[in-house]
Amino acid sequence: MTDALVVGLGPAGAATAIRLARAGLRVTAIDRAVFPREKACSEYLSPEGVRQLDLLGARERLVPLGEPLEGAMVRGPRGSALEGLFRETAPPDLGSVGLSVSRRILDATLVDLARAAGVTVLERTQLVDLTRTGGAVTGAVVRQGDRLDRVSSRIVVGADGLRSVTTRLLGGRRTEPLHRVALVAHVAEVRGVGRTAELHVGRGRYVGLNAIGGGVTNVAVVGRPERILSVPGDPEASWFAALEEFPAVQGRIRRDRIVRRVLATGPFAVRARRVVTDGALLVGDAADFFDPFTGEGICTALRGAGLAAPIIEEALTENRVAPVGVLARYRAARREAFLGKWAVERLIGYGMLFPALFDRAVERLGRRGMGHTLIGVTGDFLPARAVLNPGFLLAMLA
Ligand SMILES: Cc1cc2nc3c(=O)[nH]c(=O)nc-3n(C[C@H](O)[C@H](O)[C@H](O)COP(=O)(O)OP(=O)(O)OC[C@H]3O[C@@H](n4cnc5c(N)ncnc54)[C@H](O)[C@@H]3O)c2cc1C
Repeated sequence: MTDALVVGLGPAGAATAIRLARAGLRVTAIDRAVFPREKACSEYLSPEGVRQLDLLGARERLVPLGEPLEGAMVRGPRGSALEGLFRETAPPDLGSVGLSVSRRILDATLVDLARAAGVTVLERTQLVDLTRTGGAVTGAVVRQGDRLDRVSSRIVVGADGLRSVTTRLLGGRRTEPLHRVALVAHVAEVRGVGRTAELHVGRGRYVGLNAIGGGVTNVAVVGRPERILSVPGDPEASWFAALEEFPAVQGRIRRDRIVRRVLATGPFAVRARRVVTDGALLVGDAADFFDPFTGEGICTALRGAGLAAPIIEEALTENRVAPVGVLARYRAARREAFLGKWAVERLIGYGMLFPALFDRAVERLGRRGMGHTLIGVTGDFLPARAVLNPGFLLAMLA
């Protein structure tokens, strides 16, 4: 019997496990992968994301292994441009620089910290089913090779990402019509990449370029499957064909300079129907993930862990199994913390479906220097109301 069984050791699971173990709970964390492992991601963090790493004690180890990030540049479908620099709106105590670092390094570092905090880490171990007693989740069935084991736990934390098995077992997820997928590679010698991430928006798809250190650039293509997966069964050919359609990217990326194969992921825009139940709770992408454009999934996962851990601790103080009555506070805390962010993500994500309108908004905001505010909101260090107000919304279109 363990106090908490954490399923998945990405940022959400590792951060929750670290916090619970440091609070004195017995924690077992499983992942089907072996770390270090790769993850399809654009791999950048805002200054707030860096602060979240600092809270876990990971910042000092990660900063020398990545590349400083100053902000992002968005190019609209018809050539408009918008720059957002963290230093223009970040509060002085936050620091004005983000971080780009490979997920291979980031995730393995957090798993190391989890082990150091006393978490029992089981790799190559997959969640197969949840066990229940009287309706409450009281553990899980996990597979290690050919062996199936039962693990009893006072709470199961589902942190198993976009295609979470825990989410499916707890009631499934809702999908939104924004049906996008991504192809992501690491490429050497990409010309003209600086300390500002680039986002090039085209019709039905976009490309992200981001230097992650060691002369390597993360190159991601995101869009509807029919616009992205143009060469069936060949993600690399599809990825390259999509890149070639972006004039500002053409000729800068050489296919023979790929240093990590193209990884495919998606579809996105999913949300769990039930984030808490008796004996179980979801964090990170397992709870919700909309679209990678704003690049804030890691920070959200780390913040979500920060919201969940003290409520789990409290739920286990007086109860054998964490009751939904206490865990419901986590659902409320998430709503309070992320509601504005969810709205801004959707404003951008669905706005891209209308290229003329999107281009106009990018042009207006760029001309007025309002990209700095926007990146402060998407970067999680300015409140969403800095964007969700009549003045800002009018400036976008008028
Ligand atoms: C194309 C793309 C670009 C992105 N770019 C950025 C970016 O630049 N910055 C940013 O902050 N965010 C970005 N994101 C979002 C970010 O990747 C996610 O939000 C983040 O990884 C969520 O962390 P997590 O811990 O919830 O899930 P994950 O990181 O996906 O971790 C889940 C873990 O669960 C394990 N697992 C899965 N199933 C099981 C099972 N059945 N049993 C045991 N283990 C299991 C997996 O092996 C994995 O290690 C991007 C996402 C995409 C798709």
